[in-house]
Amino acid sequence: MSKVRTGLRWRPQLPAATVLAASAAVLLLVNPAAAIVPQGAAPVTAPADLGRLADERASVVEVILADSAELDALVATGVDLDHHITHTGDGIVVHAVVTGNEVATLTRAGFTFGQVLHTPDDAAQRVAEREATIAAHLAENREYAAAADFSARSTVSDVKIIRADYYTSGDTQVLSVEAKWAQGQTDASPLTVERDSGPGTEIGSGGTQTISRFVDAGVYLYHRGAAQVTSRPAYVRITSPSGDVAVAKVNEWLPIPPKAPEGPGYMKDFVASYLTPTELYDRIKALSAQYPKISEIVELPYRTNGYRRKAQAVLGTANASRVAVDSLAWGHQGGNDISVELADPGVADAPLTVTVTGTQVHVDLATDGSGTVTSTAEQVVAALNAQAGTLLTAYTYRGSPGTGVVAPVARTALSDGLAAPASVSRDPHPVYAIRIGKHRDGSRLGVLAYAQEHAREWVPPLVTIETAERLLRNYAHDRKTRELVDNLDIWIAPSVNPDGGHYSFYDFNSQRKNMTNHCPQDGSADFLGRNSWGVDNNRNYTEYSLFDGYAGASTSCTSGTYAGPSELSEPENRNVDWLAARPNITFSMNLHSSGNYFMWSPGSYAVPGRVSAPRPTLAEESLFWGASSRILTAIKRHRNLAVTPARTGPIADVLYSAAGNSGDMLWYKYGIYAWNFEVGTSFQPAWAEAHAETMEFSNGLTEMLRVARDFDTDRKRPRSSLSVSASATPGMVDVTFSTSEPAAVFYTLDRSRPTYDSTLYGSAGIREGGETLTIPAGTTVHWFSVDAAGNVEKNYKPDGRGNNHNKQKVKAPKR
Ligand SMILES: [Zn+2]
Repeated sequence: MSKVRTGLRWRPQLPAATVLAASAAVLLLVNPAAAIVPQGAAPVTAPADLGRLADERASVVEVILADSAELDALVATGVDLDHHITHTGDGIVVHAVVTGNEVATLTRAGFTFGQVLHTPDDAAQRVAEREATIAAHLAENREYAAAADFSARSTVSDVKIIRADYYTSGDTQVLSVEAKWAQGQTDASPLTVERDSGPGTEIGSGGTQTISRFVDAGVYLYHRGAAQVTSRPAYVRITSPSGDVAVAKVNEWLPIPPKAPEGPGYMKDFVASYLTPTELYDRIKALSAQYPKISEIVELPYRTNGYRRKAQAVLGTANASRVAVDSLAWGHQGGNDISVELADPGVADAPLTVTVTGTQVHVDLATDGSGTVTSTAEQVVAALNAQAGTLLTAYTYRGSPGTGVVAPVARTALSDGLAAPASVSRDPHPVYAIRIGKHRDGSRLGVLAYAQEHAREWVPPLVTIETAERLLRNYAHDRKTRELVDNLDIWIAPSVNPDGGHYSFYDFNSQRKNMTNHCPQDGSADFLGRNSWGVDNNRNYTEYSLFDGYAGASTSCTSGTYAGPSELSEPENRNVDWLAARPNITFSMNLHSSGNYFMWSPGSYAVPGRVSAPRPTLAEESLFWGASSRILTAIKRHRNLAVTPARTGPIADVLYSAAGNSGDMLWYKYGIYAWNFEVGTSFQPAWAEAHAETMEFSNGLTEMLRVARDFDTDRKRPRSSLSVSASATPGMVDVTFSTSEPAAVFYTLDRSRPTYDSTLYGSAGIREGGETLTIPAGTTVHWFSVDAAGNVEKNYKPDGRGNNHNKQKVKAPKR
């Protein structure tokens, strides 16, 4: 790997210490308590559909902003923003994830809201749609099994061949067979396919192949498999384990090669529904078991804190008299069995007493001489902690002194609020990646793709699964896939935040963060705050973070962009850091949704002044843009969806500041060419759209692998030239460099040999080309260029003694 790292030597290695001295002042501005003052906010006329919003449940709602200053003010409130930003003719429209109450607060602060785009009811419909799809498949399986009626040996065979496709790929001949077996839902047996060796020949004379079950989200879909053959068969036959037989004619698939980067017979379209984190991990485990020679499962070093919570309740309604209780045990380990009742004893001069019977806690409130209840919240809390302290802990509500007199509350069960079936583990969760490559020893160029830092983004994990399947299932017969798998070391982590992911599927579809509760007991740690807990995993990294004074992250434990108590405080983030630290990783893709963006560093800036993290060099920027056109063309090929130039570029330029994001850590700390996808148009689109987005962005992710492979095999040396024009200043000339490919130029003006320590030719400005140097006429410029793969122009040795670099004496051009 020395070659690759050599190529990166001109990357600016900036330690995290290069942060703003004024970080304390900056921190004040990102504090959510800081002023929410959109300038020139229009008078609010709420569209009628804001009425659809629930007070406490979050929906996606448009916010109409006048300019980027208002956007910065909105980000500074810590409000939970989708990645979707549209610059319209007269302003900016962003999507915020907010409750009705938050809309009311932000409206009072002067923000204007537009349409309501996605509510919890919409998400419930998506889940219902998913359940219905799965149920329909299961019913179909049952119907099919019943129709086959094996016991009666009816005329209906229990096995049916869906398709048998023969195709050629280069010099290779392949037979792909798909068949449905009536017992496939319950029986994991593979099926054996016998083939003939051409028209009129005996079945079996061409050999046999086995096909295995394709199971998606627990539903058996069909058996499938491809194998190399030596002649084109005319017929295939399958005899099922129960003795039934099916015969089918073989068709030729794609006889004319399509104009695509993949070879003919390239297989895609492997996902059939949204997948929960548990299902995603099951899927990559099954894949690796099927392709053990070219893949393995890696359990990342840090387990999450787990899809689990203490059982809780908040008793009472008025804040001063509310009593909050948390079980000591996790909900699933007994906490959910606990219940508490606050009773009026119905007699005068009763003392405050607590009785514990098993897991039932009964409180008789104190009364005065007239029989009126007198116990305050503070007193009930103290009594509960003294008498029921082995079961629960009690506290006043959100820091209230608890001086209000408690009202009786009927028996109330404590709950962890978690609705996932028991098949979803409540333990600290292992996080898995699938590592794909023929050589998985670190000797090959490494590429990393990771998804679901944000729990509610359900499509990006599917893009990673689809891509993994394309690599593994096409390896045997597609030469170009084989080139990638044989020469790259590909790490794919489909869900880095499984706890949040499960919570998003089963409990709170808008969940963005992980599930860890960092809120203090006198803050929002009680039951009513549970949907706001968690750390934004894409704000908890180490470079240009909130802790370094950068903008776009929050110190509030309930904010959508909460950065956590410290950098890398979260296991999810330590896992990504561990992945990025693999020394051979050179390219990465961080998959998010939504908005159809393609982005790279810098991803954060400090306010005021929008001082961004250091920009990539001109050469790096041109490599980013060059790869972008390839990756985006691949995406467009699927259904002509174009990621626009306006949504391509550094995060801080095209979206907003996101202090402590993972892309910046990978780029600035590890020198990885780190990209970010924002897939599609919403978090949880209807399945047909989710499916299309998965196909098109898998095209893009696969193209990134080809970019990496081309980078690795790049032996072509760049060429460069100098152009000189007249300067406005007498005696001076204007000079620019150009290069034959993305390459860095190092130059001297004092006739010394140029080295990697010489001046690096820079960019003229954001999203612009090279700078113009104004130098005295008669100066001799010495320079060389080097591309990102480390190839130096003319094979010049900057660290050696040779003088075969470029030299040119610049003269004033004739006017
Ligand atoms: Zn995201």
